[in-house]
Amino acid sequence: MKKTIEKFAGDTEGVSYELTVFRFKGTSKTAPSAYIQAALHAGELPGVVAIHALMPKLRAAEAEGRILGDITIVPAANPVGRAQYVFGELEGRFHLGTRTNFNRDFPLLDRPDKAALPPPPRNATVDVHLKRLLVGLSVGHDIVLDLHCDDEGVPYLYVPAQLWPAMQDCAAAMGVEAVILWEGESGAAFEEAAIHPWLQLPAEKAPLEGRVVTTVEFRGLADVYDRYARTDAEGIYRLLATRGVIGDAKAARPRKFSGVAAPIDRVELISMPRAGAILFHVEPGRSVRKGARLATIVHTPGEPDGSIDLLAPQAGYVLTRVSKRSGRAGDDIIKLIGEARSARPKAGALED
Ligand SMILES: [Zn+2]
Repeated sequence: MKKTIEKFAGDTEGVSYELTVFRFKGTSKTAPSAYIQAALHAGELPGVVAIHALMPKLRAAEAEGRILGDITIVPAANPVGRAQYVFGELEGRFHLGTRTNFNRDFPLLDRPDKAALPPPPRNATVDVHLKRLLVGLSVGHDIVLDLHCDDEGVPYLYVPAQLWPAMQDCAAAMGVEAVILWEGESGAAFEEAAIHPWLQLPAEKAPLEGRVVTTVEFRGLADVYDRYARTDAEGIYRLLATRGVIGDAKAARPRKFSGVAAPIDRVELISMPRAGAILFHVEPGRSVRKGARLATIVHTPGEPDGSIDLLAPQAGYVLTRVSKRSGRAGDDIIKLIGEARSARPKAGALED
């Protein structure tokens, strides 16, 4: 294993950042390669601790000569966001200087080759440099995992629709509960930047069967626990074994994915009609019938008609909910995977 530190300058004098990269060299020329990064949204730490739990397993595999494909790991992909504390709160989702989501506006290359990266614009800000760096590190790998988390939720994946159902084995290996399939434009999320170059090649030159690209949502922001880190590390390890990056026949045993897989237009975003306090009646992971009470909003406390119930617009599966307990009119507070297409499907391909 080789460790390198990528350094890049900030937007003001005297400020620079460091990105740690671990590389395992594979022993086989034909085995697929893998790239794994965590905490692109800098406050989303379940993936960071999962990588910390994964590394000893990879070191052991390396010592036994079982790393077959090259593996590149960036355990904390966003040192810029990591440093953005505002009044004591970490703002790791948007770059403060440009107000741009750290998981949007990645360069989309026309082929899976680092040389296809155009030169940075003269006025490029530090977040632009970071995104170029991450695309440069990840492009060309057969397997790309971008580890995130939701607010409160079950473990689930975003997967490009072109890679489904071929990626069922990966969802099963990782033990996730649900898979959201997306197609089209995501605003150039990292996941889109990872699949886009392959989609530009003719299918016979770049068959999609061997490709794995996913945004992994490891539950909620506060689900940072040793037991989850170990479970998630085992899930990633099983995926790598299943796809032949690591030699481990036991871990590579086929498994069946039994969770919910749905196109993104089946996701119902349950929003608040009025501001107030949120009383949730359902937790992520629960199935609900049409008309089930999902939450009550207390908008005028003390009044007999001071609250309003939010009902399930159709039968479905509760994927996530927000962790805050107060909100404004229009705030989305629950993601429900419906059994049918939503009457109001959300715009855009990725929520993360
Ligand atoms: Zn995220």
